[in-house]
Parts: sequence; C-alpha cells; structure tokens
Amino acid sequence: MVVGIVGAGQLGRMMALAGYPLGLEFLFLDKDRRTPGGQVAPILEGELTDRKLLGQLSTRCEVMTFDWENIPVDALEDLPGTARIAPPLRALAAAQDRLSEKRTFELLGIPTTRYASVDSRAALEAAVKSIGLPGVLKTRRMGYDGKGQFVLRKPADLDAAWAALGSTPLLYENLVPFDREVSIIAVRGMDGDIAFYPLNLNVHREGILRLTRAPYGNAALARQAQRAARRLLEHFKYAGVLTIEFFVAGGKLVANEMAPRVHNSGHWTIEGADTSQFENHLRAITGMPLGSTRARGHSAMINLIGELPPRDALLAEPGLHWHDYGKSARPGRKLGHLTVVETTTRTRDRRGLQVLGLVDRATWLAIR
Ligand code: AMP
Repeated sequence: MVVGIVGAGQLGRMMALAGYPLGLEFLFLDKDRRTPGGQVAPILEGELTDRKLLGQLSTRCEVMTFDWENIPVDALEDLPGTARIAPPLRALAAAQDRLSEKRTFELLGIPTTRYASVDSRAALEAAVKSIGLPGVLKTRRMGYDGKGQFVLRKPADLDAAWAALGSTPLLYENLVPFDREVSIIAVRGMDGDIAFYPLNLNVHREGILRLTRAPYGNAALARQAQRAARRLLEHFKYAGVLTIEFFVAGGKLVANEMAPRVHNSGHWTIEGADTSQFENHLRAITGMPLGSTRARGHSAMINLIGELPPRDALLAEPGLHWHDYGKSARPGRKLGHLTVVETTTRTRDRRGLQVLGLVDRATWLAIR
C-alpha cells in the first residue's frame, strides 16, 4: 500500500522509516528532494498547495496524510484520485485556526485559556480589558514554535504588539502561570479503537520544545488528558495520531493547542515505547490494528536545534540514540534529536539533564 505524505519534513521522514517494516511504501509532496522525507522516499516536487500535484498524489496512493497540517483545506477538497485523507479535513481545519481550536475545546468541555478574537486595534483593547494582563496575542494561523506571538504585560505593550502582529487575524488569551507543560499523544484506528501514550513533560525555551521526559505524572492527570483526547478523537471520527498540549496549573490541565499529527514531544516513543507514534499513526490510517503504547522505560528526548553537536562524542555515550534529520544548519531550526531510555525516573532525569547540559547549555541552566 502506498501512503502519500503532504510535506517531507522530519515527521514525514520518521513516518516513512517506521512504515517500511510494515510493508508500506511512501510518496511525498514537497518543494525539494533534499528535504528530510525526500532523502528516504520518492517525492513529487512542488508547492504543498499545488492542486495539480495534490491531485496526482491522490491518484498514486491509497491514503494521504500530513507532515505539515497547515494546507488550506479547500486545496484538499474534491481531489480527483481515490485516496482517503486521514486525519479528517474537519480536524485539520479546526487545528489550523486558533479561534476554531479554542471553540472546539469549549464545545467539548475541554478546559482552555480565556480568549477573544482580535481583528482591529479596538478589539485588542476590548480583549485586554475583558481578559486582563498579562496575556498573549497570537496570530490565528500559521503560528508554530512560538512564532507569531507577543506577550503583553502592561497597557503600554499594546502599541508594540499591534505594530508587530496587527496585519493579520489574531487571538488574545490570558498568560497562564503554569507549573509545567505536558502533552498527550493519542491514536484512533479506522475501527474506532483508541490508545493513549503516557503523558509527556515538556520544557520549551523561546517557544521551541527543548526537552521531553516521559512517562510523566499521576493517574489523575493522565485521566484528564485522556478524557480531552477521547472527546476530540470521537468528535472528529478521527483516524491517526492526535496531540494535545496542556499547561498544568494547580494540578489541573488547561489545553493550549492540538496538532492533528505526530508530534515532537512523542519522538521518545521510537525507542521508548512498544510501538512508536509514527508506526501507530500509519497503523491507524491504513486500517491495521493499533500497537501497544506501553513505555519500555523512562525516556528523555532532547532536541538538537540550530546546529548539530559533535556526533562521535555523543555516540560514545552508552544507550544514546542519535537522530539526524538531514537538514542544513540554521538558527532555531530543528535538526535532530537524542533519546535515552533508562529504567527509573531518577536515572532518566540524571542522564537526560547530563546530555542536555552537553548540547543545550541555556536550557540546562534554566532548569537544573
Ligand atoms: P504555542 O505556539 O501556542 O504552543 O506556544 C509556544 C509556547 O509559548 C508554549 O509552549 C508556552 O510555553 C508559551 N505560551 C503560549 N501561550 C501561552 C499562554 N497563554 N500562557 C502561558 N504560556 C504560553
């Protein structure tokens, strides 16, 4: 069976690498064959929104899925081929726009931030008045890794926030004084079967994920996250992996955002779980039974951002798994990740922090 993947970034690449042992084949659509996915599978070269190429993809594969979820949904409607699209377009549409995302959380009774839609300077003032300061102004679309965000702490910040972001539809929300950030990775098969990975504890710096440790938390926290994920999966009659990111404040979860795809905070599952998030996504969208989501130990995943550290010194670390996405170096760019899997949380934390200290001193200093 051929799986078509729109976008050939590292998520698509790790999907393909997980799918070959299942007997699957892959065809990517992306701008360039030197992309991470294009290095491991055939690629249709062009814009991700190119209707002609999306049409070709839909005739050359059985199921189409996404490495990048921000493809305008109308570009994906009524394609000429017979390929199924998974996850469903409704889920993509909801996740692409922070306003519909918040409304979906609200509709399903999933606690989230207080928010207001902002499309004028007057609306920003009204939003700040009703929600208060501090708060975060975010672009409704295309925000990722903290891009398109402005934190407002005092009334004088309104001008700068509006000057920075005012040209596009926005959302204002309260700044949550969170204790921690966690995420859940959930998967639903075509037959409606649902499975959850244990919670991930995430550390961001400058809006970019730096460190994930899993499993994290107690049964009560996991239940809250699973309830939210189940509601979303069933609401959308979803197939594939879905991720929700939460703030933990006073022992309660507040949903920040969802991603209708495999997620950076789930990369540890490659070595740290019975079945990786990538394999389970493929199983789910191709109609195979879901695999066990059990953690095999206690994992720490560290992102390699901007430039890769000296490889051979790290490969000498026993049990360290090195993932190079095949991308060129650029500040702030995710180029790879490292994973260690240990037998206890204590050794995992010690080892995870030791490796973090070697490759990302600033984050290590911030959390040690
Ligand atoms: P996002 O792109 O919405 O996931 O935001 C990136 C990161 O910015 C989050 O993981 C948080 O660390 C921080 N952040 C975003 N929104 C808020 C908020 N409302 N309150 C506190 N921190 C936030």
